[in-house]
Amino acid sequence: MTTVQDILHILEEFAPYPLAESWDNVGLMAGDRRQAVTRVLCALDVTEAVIAEAAALGAELVVAHHPLIFTSVKAVTEDDAAGRTLRRAIRQDISVICMHTNADCAEGGVNDALAAALGLTDVVQMGAGEGGLLGRVGDLAHPMQPEEFARFVKGSLSAGGVRFTDGGREITRAAVGGGACGKLMDFALEKGAQAFVIGDCSYDLMQRAQSLGLTLVDAGHFPTENPIAAVFAARIAAACPEVETHVSAVHKDCIQFV
Ligand SMILES: [Zn+2]
Repeated sequence: MTTVQDILHILEEFAPYPLAESWDNVGLMAGDRRQAVTRVLCALDVTEAVIAEAAALGAELVVAHHPLIFTSVKAVTEDDAAGRTLRRAIRQDISVICMHTNADCAEGGVNDALAAALGLTDVVQMGAGEGGLLGRVGDLAHPMQPEEFARFVKGSLSAGGVRFTDGGREITRAAVGGGACGKLMDFALEKGAQAFVIGDCSYDLMQRAQSLGLTLVDAGHFPTENPIAAVFAARIAAACPEVETHVSAVHKDCIQFV
């Protein structure tokens, strides 16, 4: 019998808790370590729809990237989405595991998955984060101009759209940092990247990147991080072939483009 604890152990070996940033919250967020698991649903976020999907699949466990419980929780009620999601998970007896910045930093984690999705080669650490393990840098298969690269990123990540600044230089080497990593652009430049692919970026960071000759591509939070859901599923399937693994079919990017 495979338990929640067994799967937690597999995920901890993949993305050890000490890799998480000090402000983060990772691990078992709801449920019972001793619960038997026959099916697991993996997703970027734990939402009401994801819990409903898990219940329909008969999954006893949801594994996600973004923490369901992040800031201090004052109440668990129907008044907000996190409360409703948590209440549904508990009512349906579905355990919830979240692996966040530890999965960003892990070898084969969020940032390696992002580098792989862009086909980067000779991938090395970008050196950001508290442990120096956040972000990756690698070489492109062939040189690209900034706009060409932005289109390539959009296609590679199946993004609805990307925003970018033209750094004014040909790109042979790119850095990646899933999620809101724009403030880490100095690490990307230091490692010789002419482009930096991130998700979520403010105007001031875009301006700064352009002034530094860096093509900063905001490909969106969901497209840059969602590949981790399939990585979680593959890790669990490899270690526990008796457990049925699924990647959420209902969880989509909440941002749309017109
Ligand atoms: Zn994120």
